[in-house]
Amino acid sequence: MTKFTPFWWDDQPQFENTDELPLSADIVIVGAGYTGLSAALTLSKSGKNVIVLDSEMIGFGASTRNGGMLGSGHKVSTDQAKKKYGEVIAAEIHIEANASLAFTSNLIEENNIDCEFQICGRLRTSWLPQDQVDMSDNLKKLKAIDHFNSKMISPDRMSKSIKTDLYFGGQFYQDHGSVHPRKFHYGLLKLALEAGAKIFGNRPVIEVNKSSKIKQSGFDVVTSSSTIQCKQVLMATNGYTQSNLSKYLSRRILPVPSFVITTVDIGKDKVQSLLPGGHCMVETRKRYCYYRPTPCGKRIMLGTRAAMHSISAEEALPTLRKMLIEIFPSLVDVEISHCWTGFTGFSFSQLPNLSINKGIYSALGYCGNGVAMAPYLGHMAALKMLNPDQKVTIFEQTPLQTRPYYFGKPWFLPIVSLYFRGFDILDYYRRKKSIKKI
Ligand SMILES: Cc1cc2nc3c(=O)[nH]c(=O)nc-3n(C[C@H](O)[C@H](O)[C@H](O)COP(=O)(O)OP(=O)(O)OC[C@H]3O[C@@H](n4cnc5c(N)ncnc54)[C@H](O)[C@@H]3O)c2cc1C
Repeated sequence: MTKFTPFWWDDQPQFENTDELPLSADIVIVGAGYTGLSAALTLSKSGKNVIVLDSEMIGFGASTRNGGMLGSGHKVSTDQAKKKYGEVIAAEIHIEANASLAFTSNLIEENNIDCEFQICGRLRTSWLPQDQVDMSDNLKKLKAIDHFNSKMISPDRMSKSIKTDLYFGGQFYQDHGSVHPRKFHYGLLKLALEAGAKIFGNRPVIEVNKSSKIKQSGFDVVTSSSTIQCKQVLMATNGYTQSNLSKYLSRRILPVPSFVITTVDIGKDKVQSLLPGGHCMVETRKRYCYYRPTPCGKRIMLGTRAAMHSISAEEALPTLRKMLIEIFPSLVDVEISHCWTGFTGFSFSQLPNLSINKGIYSALGYCGNGVAMAPYLGHMAALKMLNPDQKVTIFEQTPLQTRPYYFGKPWFLPIVSLYFRGFDILDYYRRKKSIKKI
């Protein structure tokens, strides 16, 4: 029987705080995922009195639902970034994306966070022969910016990493890794608590208002049970941002669902025969399949876009299963133990963003690449709050845009789902055509 909750949640400890909410703090952080906890850690270590509030149980959001693939990725190519922001900013985006991976890897190692961290590398696989050419061109441009630790893998060397004839080669990222996302989240939570942060689940923030006290700057953070007065607020709600809390942010962040399955235990030998490299795998095709062995090495986990709009995990299961079997036909009779979904937060620029609107800070917009970036940007947000006049990251310069007729409810995502379904068909057609040419 398939369970429709994240595989990562099985047998994991749950943190609860039954204390009364304090009435004041230096800083209130809304959202207790990687962003909020990392910011809380840095701010608490700097001597600030910090409260973190989550509307659900601690770790409800994407930070315990993701694929655990730790990388420096973002969705914008060097050429796209150059065209939009110019050469200097494009280079800084690339450098800082790598810095986010180094930051989070160090955070785990220096604090001995027990989260099954492995530097297993990531292989981005070419769905079309042209993808291999494009990735190779892009890699040359990235290597001109810095000593980017990545190389192209030719089709004849793919069998060292994966047992399938599906791909036309790939690009390998040596420094990328993997974690058990829920254990990573729990480790970060413990560090923030030890540093002195007060963290509460099941405390939805309803409103954030300018302080009602005359001559007092700061904010009143209204929760379901009481109001907290504080000097600064950080919104760390990413794909779970709701318009009743912040119309400004919800008009700028699209909640796009992602879906994941895990097989039952198929044994280490079987997993190794299918994925001998033990890497995290990501495809270039628009459907964006990603997969990896689970930390125990006995199961395969696969995520993909089953729809762009919110459908249930039950509805998504057949699509995910079909993709798994397409890549690994020998898994046709294997049962799926878990299938789940969660929300990623997409910005219209497809880049992360740190900004301040009406005095309220926000760090979000990871576009499905937040395992390394969210802890990093949470830390950067904390540095900015400690020193508001200082520029701390290039992601202050990637503007958080909105679009006409978007008021926080993504009414157009079912239409986008249809568009992408058409694109998937086109992807297969283009592939068939290019195979014929070879
Ligand atoms: C299925 C899936 C797979 C993914 N796989 C990968 C991957 O392999 N690699 C990768 O790099 N990234 C991946 N991601 C993206 C990554 O998980 C996220 O970018 C990252 O976890 C974002 O962290 P966060 O702390 O900003 O947000 P979240 O972890 O989503 O936390 C936001 C929190 O805000 C809370 N909140 C919202 N409103 C309120 C309110 N009013 N009051 C109080 N609290 C509130 C929510 O309850 C939630 O807990 C994946 C995401 C999903 C959903």
